[in-house]
Amino acid sequence: IFLVGFVVFCGIRGAFKRRTKGTEMVMRRVDRVEKALLLFLIPGTLVLPLLYLFTPWLAFTDYGLPAVMPYCGSVLMVAALWVFWRSHADLGQTWSQSLELRKGHQLVKHGIYRSIRHPMYAAIWLWCLAQGLLLGNWLAGWWALIAFAVMYFVRTPREEQMMYQFFGQEYQDYTRQTGRLFPRLHIKTDA
Ligand code: SAH
Repeated sequence: IFLVGFVVFCGIRGAFKRRTKGTEMVMRRVDRVEKALLLFLIPGTLVLPLLYLFTPWLAFTDYGLPAVMPYCGSVLMVAALWVFWRSHADLGQTWSQSLELRKGHQLVKHGIYRSIRHPMYAAIWLWCLAQGLLLGNWLAGWWALIAFAVMYFVRTPREEQMMYQFFGQEYQDYTRQTGRLFPRLHIKTDA
């Protein structure tokens, strides 16, 4: 199940990477911090799960999972893939893997971005949890979650700062109407 999800995940990413190829960038924040975060994420998301599935090398960190966990992991994985696809589709040509903005970049506020600012990161949180619940191995299962937690908490404020610098008031208004990972509840008060 993990392998099927993994192929779909890479397929979504690959398809959108091809679509957005070649557009000129007008702002880039790909510094050492950004590169280090990506480097820390690669073992957990790519290398360790494949080593776990295809070699016996990681068996020393195996553990038994309660039988219900893989079912929970599968549900989370389907949710993760749907949100991951939806957010790529809504960002369309404006999507980029790193902190960068393209020529003619528009602020996307429709679709899943109407109520959440970081649905793609929400999808990756779900994916990392699913990975931990599907693979009964400490290293292959949980490295990704720890690495992504570091990435999320360091990158998100940097991304928001870049967006604010580029879009100004429009982005500030947008942040008031949305939540980072969960939709913002609009409580009406009758004054
Ligand atoms: N944080 C977002 C997007 C991650 S991809 C999410 O989790 O869904 C990162 C890139 O997406 C940024 O460098 C920026 O170019 C672009 N981006 C993020 N939010 C955007 C928005 N609301 N509108 C347009 N582009 C956006």
